[in-house]
Amino acid sequence: MTKAQAALLQRKWKKQGDPPCEHLIQELSDASSDFDDGHVLNAYHCRECGELFVHRYKAKGLSNNPSTEPEFIGET
Ligand SMILES: [Zn+2]
Repeated sequence: MTKAQAALLQRKWKKQGDPPCEHLIQELSDASSDFDDGHVLNAYHCRECGELFVHRYKAKGLSNNPSTEPEFIGET
């Protein structure tokens, strides 16, 4: 999902009165991952309401073992 699509979803959601959303389906945004201090930051948007979530992963193993999934350590 692009940032423009997310912004559109957010506007549509607000028009519907900004109801509560459980953010069940989150889609990785097209922005490339940011690295900070050995961590990977991936941006996701809720497919229902467009809300942004940034998931932070430990980046260990990325350089010498690219097949290793980054370890999920929570949302920021
Ligand atoms: Zn949502």
